[in-house]
Amino acid sequence: MKLTIKVKPGTTVKLDKHDPDETFGLTEEQADERLAMLTDELGELQELLYAARQHSVLIILQGMDTSGKDGTVKKVMTDVNPLGCRVEAFKVPSEEELAHDFLWRVHKVVPPKGLMTIFNRSHYEDVLVVRVHELVAKRVWKSRFHQINEFERTLVESGTIIVKFFLHISKHEQQKRLQAREREAAKAWKLSPGDWQERELWEAYQSAYETALMRCSTAYAKWHIVPANQKWFRNLAVAEALVRTLRPYRKDWEKVLQKLSDRKLAELEAMRATRSADA
Ligand code: ADP
Repeated sequence: MKLTIKVKPGTTVKLDKHDPDETFGLTEEQADERLAMLTDELGELQELLYAARQHSVLIILQGMDTSGKDGTVKKVMTDVNPLGCRVEAFKVPSEEELAHDFLWRVHKVVPPKGLMTIFNRSHYEDVLVVRVHELVAKRVWKSRFHQINEFERTLVESGTIIVKFFLHISKHEQQKRLQAREREAAKAWKLSPGDWQERELWEAYQSAYETALMRCSTAYAKWHIVPANQKWFRNLAVAEALVRTLRPYRKDWEKVLQKLSDRKLAELEAMRATRSADA
């Protein structure tokens, strides 16, 4: 069963048509059981990706404040080997970054073949926060949709598998999560007065997200809308979509590894043969 909503290229997105509380009738217990199997499989797939070095994987996580980007990384990547995985977080750009084109800081950290990189926020901030706060002229952010699509196309044509997730929470759920941060000492470090201010711009952000999901869901890099009010469901949905995307590559990666192993064994045998001939 598919648990995320894949945005079909060229179609309109209306976020209020998608229920952030959706769980497709699953219970938390069932979800956790399935998640354990999926994270295990994701670990295997990542090992194959790493060893075969044919592709790279770029996972993009976007969502409103408190939507669970950090939590998703923590819960979905449990069986992934840190040796082959990186997380890149994109904050307010530095002076140096702002002096370059908006993709400069992003392109520097895309994954090379064999690696998996997770973007916690991404180049999409340049058509989201930048648009909502009018940090650049409208014509500038408008031209970025096409620039993003071309950038992602370049990556895909060079062997990168791109999976993009929008973690969809409701305004009410965000309020609950922000209030929980105030109440619970262990979560208070995450508090930022800015989060409450940004919340006042909720509608503007939702609308900016709708445009970004619409304009940048392409045949080669589709957006997934993830119902994310229930954290356990969000984790399962992301894991399921990731595994579903990577699974078709498994056989190819195994074949490459088999060839590599055959070659190494042949080399070893040849080396032993020369040694015994010399003896
Ligand atoms: P997070 O909320 O991701 O855990 P922070 O609280 O440090 O981490 O927030 C990062 C901030 O950086 C966000 O408010 C985000 O909108 C902002 N940001 C990221 N990229 C850009 C950008 N290109 N231009 C302006 N602000 C950005």
